[in-house]
Amino acid sequence: MSQSVPARPEVRVPTIPLGQTAPWAVSIPAGDAVHEWVHDGRHLLGFPCH
Ligand SMILES: [Zn+2]
Repeated sequence: MSQSVPARPEVRVPTIPLGQTAPWAVSIPAGDAVHEWVHDGRHLLGFPCH
């Protein structure tokens, strides 16, 4: 009985700097991003806000 286990390629999670994957996440402070998101939600729901 063979106990050979298929060789698994080494799984690596590449560490990519945030600025490369999501430049918007860096250019916009998180607080503003959340604000914009909530703001858009208000408009989607038909709330007049400005
Ligand atoms: Zn608005």
